[in-house]
This record gives sequence, structure tokens and C-alpha cells, in this order.
Amino acid sequence: MTRAAAVHDHTQAHVEEMVADLDRLVRLETPSNRRDLLEAALPEIERYAVERLGAPAARVQHDGGSRGDVLDLTWAGSPGLVGTVLVLCHYDTVWPEGTVACWPLTRDGDVLTGPGVLDMKAGIVQAVWMLRALRELDVPHPSVRLLLTGDEEIGSVAGRPHIEAAAAESLVTLIPEPSAAGDVKVQRKGMVFADLTVRGVESHAGLDPDAGASAVHELAGLIPAVVALADRERGTTVNVGVVTGGSGRNVVAGVATCEVDVRVQDPDEARRVADALEALAVSDSRCTLEVVVDHNRPPMNPSPRTEEILELVRRTAADLGETVGTQAVGGASDGNFVAALGLPVIDGLGGIGAGPHARHEHITVSGLPRQTALMAGIVELLATEARG
Ligand SMILES: [Zn+2]
Repeated sequence: MTRAAAVHDHTQAHVEEMVADLDRLVRLETPSNRRDLLEAALPEIERYAVERLGAPAARVQHDGGSRGDVLDLTWAGSPGLVGTVLVLCHYDTVWPEGTVACWPLTRDGDVLTGPGVLDMKAGIVQAVWMLRALRELDVPHPSVRLLLTGDEEIGSVAGRPHIEAAAAESLVTLIPEPSAAGDVKVQRKGMVFADLTVRGVESHAGLDPDAGASAVHELAGLIPAVVALADRERGTTVNVGVVTGGSGRNVVAGVATCEVDVRVQDPDEARRVADALEALAVSDSRCTLEVVVDHNRPPMNPSPRTEEILELVRRTAADLGETVGTQAVGGASDGNFVAALGLPVIDGLGGIGAGPHARHEHITVSGLPRQTALMAGIVELLATEARG
């Protein structure tokens, strides 16, 4: 029997404080591309955590350059227990400055809406209350390390090395990203982005059509080959999301571009698709093709250790009188980096709701105690393991 049920009750008793905390964090606007706002918000987030948990035993802040800084806070575990659980959160959101003025945190019964509430400010609040509950209830727990990154929504260039290093030093990485309707996420697709640019020769479409070489026509001819790289059986999807080109109806187009989004479950597929994209060729020798491939995130697949920790998730859920399933999703997170190293990661432990990145983004207030208790149960059972 875990103490997850006790954590659930504790959190339930403090759920109004959690909502107030969430309001505090949602007010701090943190669009990924605004270094100034991220820089202003991070000390406030730290102040919040310290108010609730006291000063951490260790604190490191890493310069994010043009992106948000990474804040690494560790609170010591119970005496005699070794090991650390990493709770990975991003504090950036996709919402631009000014959103909160017209859309503040709003409650309607059990539903709480607001920019970034699900993705993933509720996750930060849950992580803080999980540790607060473990301490107040005297539940033995390993050290808890909270890593706050500021560029998850734009690819985690600044966050990635710190995420990978911290995960490698931890028993497990727990990520309170949005839950899949109460289930956890152990499989996510990897992302490959590609930009194709065709350059042709401009001419007058009526007076001099043969003097031109249309970049638009060339690109249109290439797109079926791009789309055909999808392989549903292997979990590979391809989307040509944006196409631009040409300057006028009566001009043979000089330039055309497209933006391609590829999702893969099998790491080998990222290589296959990238190679195929780079091998594409134009049919008119007067045109040129440039292909830029960005291996944005590797796919997340569960390691054997992740499977073992899923057993702890299921035991905790059973103690709460619930069941928790596992989901494979197309969207990527920073968990992809952790899993690609073969390290255990349980993702999707955050808010229960819907609409991340959308105007109907929301969580349920009733989901907060359950999700907080679920995380706490995993941490507690890891402590039991750590004791041997
Ligand atoms: Zn997120």
C-alpha cells in the first residue's frame, strides 16, 4: 500500500491553493521567443517554488543565450535514501504577450482555462505540491530535482544538454506534460522538419514562356514524391504543411518553397526519410533544389526500465482505486531526448484537460489531486526500491 491515497487527500484539501498558484504562474507570460519575458518570469517561478518548499539544497541556473535560462533546483530526500527523481518541466508557452489580458485564468465549475494552464503550468504546480505533500506527510522519498526549461516549444536547443545530463543522473524522469485523459505517455513520435526551396528562372508567362523555368511547377512535381515517403505501417507520417512560391499569375515563378513535417516512431525511419529528401532532384536542369533537414527530436520508445516503472504507476493507480493506461502519441516533448538515451521516462503526468496550444486550452480542477498523487506514488515506490 502506498501513501498515494494520503497525498491525494492532502492535495484535495489544498486544491484551492493549487488553483491560486496556477493563477500566479499563468499571469507570468512566457512566450518561448521572448527572452525578456522569460528572464522576468523565471525568478518569480523560483520564488513561488521556494515559498512552498523552502530553499533547495542545490541550485544552478544555466544561461539560455537568446532563449530562456534553465533552472535546476534539487530538494534533498529523506535521510538514508539515495538517488534522485527528475521532474522535468518547461515554463515557456506558445502564447504571445498580452494573451492573459484578454484571457486570464478563468474557472467554470470544474474547468479551468487560461493560456499555458495545461501545457504546462499545471505541471509545475503539481510537481511543487507533490513534494510538499510527501514532506508534510513524512513519506520517505528520494531527492527531487526540478528542472525548468524555457524553450521546449521551439525545439529545446538551450534545454537539451541540461535535460540529458540531469536525466542520466536520475532514477527516472517524470514529466508533467498534459495527460492523455488520465493515461501516461510512454511513446511519442520523433520529428524531422525539412524545408525545400526550388529556384527557377523567371520570365513573362505570355510573351516569353520558354525562357522561364518555373520553380512552382518543379516543386509541384516533387511533392508527390515527398508525400510518398510516408509509411503508415512503420508509423511514419509526412505532411507538407506550407507551400509558397511565385510572384504573379503572369510570371513564370522564380522561387518556390515548402515546409515538411515528418513524424517517425522508428529511429531508422528518420534516416531513411532524410536521405530520400536529400536525394530528391529537379527534372528541369535550369532549376535548383535546396533541401534543409532538421532532426528536431528523436522518437520516444519505452526502455525495459520504463516498463518496470510503469508497474509502479499501475500500483499507485490501484491504490487510488483507478487504472492508468499508456498511450502512444504523435506529439513530441523533451521526454523524447531522455528516451533516446535509453533512460526511463514517464511522460504525460500533468493536467487532465484538452486543447494545448488552442484557445480552448483547459484542465479540470478535479484532476489535480489525482495527478499529483500519481507522481507522488511513483516517487515513494522508487524510494522503497532505493532502500533495497
Ligand atoms: Zn508542453
